[in-house]
Amino acid sequence: MPEPITPLVERPWDDVERMLDVDSALEQILSAFSPLQPITLPLLDAAGMVLAADVIAANDVPPFRNSAMDGYAVRASDTASATWAAPVELPVTAHVVAGQPEVPRLATSEAIRIMTGAPLPDGADAVVRFEETDESGSSDRPGRGRVLVYHAARPLDNVREAGEDIARSTRVAYRGQVLRPADLGLIASVGEPRVQVHRRPVIGVLSTGNEVTSPDAEPAPGRIRDSNSFVIGALARSWGADVRLLGIARDSVSDLTSRLDEARDVDLIVTSGGVSVGDYDLVKDVLKSEGEVAIWQVRMKPGKPLAFGQIGNTPLLGLPGNPVAAAVSFIVFGRPAIRRMLGHQEIQPRIVEVVSADGIDNRGQRRHYVRVRVEPADGGPPVARIAGEQGAGVLSSLAAADALMIVPEAMERVQPGTHLQAILLD
Ligand code: AMP
Ligand code: MG
Repeated sequence: MPEPITPLVERPWDDVERMLDVDSALEQILSAFSPLQPITLPLLDAAGMVLAADVIAANDVPPFRNSAMDGYAVRASDTASATWAAPVELPVTAHVVAGQPEVPRLATSEAIRIMTGAPLPDGADAVVRFEETDESGSSDRPGRGRVLVYHAARPLDNVREAGEDIARSTRVAYRGQVLRPADLGLIASVGEPRVQVHRRPVIGVLSTGNEVTSPDAEPAPGRIRDSNSFVIGALARSWGADVRLLGIARDSVSDLTSRLDEARDVDLIVTSGGVSVGDYDLVKDVLKSEGEVAIWQVRMKPGKPLAFGQIGNTPLLGLPGNPVAAAVSFIVFGRPAIRRMLGHQEIQPRIVEVVSADGIDNRGQRRHYVRVRVEPADGGPPVARIAGEQGAGVLSSLAAADALMIVPEAMERVQPGTHLQAILLD
């Protein structure tokens, strides 16, 4: 529940009490999303995705007892008296290599030359490393000479037991787990070349505005180039979604309607612009007439106007047009929604504690996401410094930032040295 707020004197036109707080807005948005249906993917394509089913080991890893070193397979008891001064001499009766299907048995008081990963011969219980031996008469017939052993082996020295990494029937990866590289290796080693993961959502990204043109066109007077499509699209991709750029819609009912119609099959439409209070901000009117879309004023800065709802069965998130407001709103509201569709349990951003190097005013009872650069500090939390001009349209300071420092709604003034939370951008 939002806390009661003192009405604002500075900006009476901002009816702050009727604004929605960030957490309530996020909660309403998230209630519309759940993990997408599982699909089966080859292991490498599933890197970084979320498993939709447990993986149980069908075999031991390693599957058989084998040598951890290049050396000689022996019975440890045959080498018990070996020292550098008085080595034990054993005849070498065979040579086994990795991948060899059949391995001869080791008889008492003999040695078998063995390579890393080769099955340990029956009768052997240890491997003596090459570095602790000398083999004579083996240059033309390796594994047929005599070996001097300078080191007393103990049972199981340099032996890898079957199942010592993964025992058969144990769970090597579980539903809900994010597949990291080592997990993929474990899954491969128990014989599963494919896994079930929640599929990536497709995000349709639509810019709006009569003044907005594509970056490849020479802008006519009064027009600007579209940057939002690229910031939004790249963010969505970096979070694991697939992106479909839907272009730039004119501020006209027909163009907006037809572009939205083309995007009905995506998992989330993200628009930017047209949800504020300007004369041509008619995205919000089209959204209201085409679907069930609410327009909110959210108590945040940058950002504030935000649309959320459904066009037919397709969820739609309408971001403000100003590039930083759009990006911050997408990080705060879009990322958790995308992560939920991907099946992640951790959907909130990673928060770190920082110390503000700067004094910051925060009037207006809004949660302020300040673009900062974070530097490590001796013996305390990292220090956050303002990364440049904080206007909602100043994208260069977002580009210069590596974190968003969060000034709470009720904190009207941040004194230098104040400890605050920050969202890391990468
Ligand atoms: P609006 O919310 O549509 O009034 O837009 C607010 C501001 O953001 C205006 O100055 C727009 O020109 C700018 N803007 C809107 N869309 C984009 C975009 N795709 N790329 C860059 N700036 C934009
Ligand atoms: Mg506009």
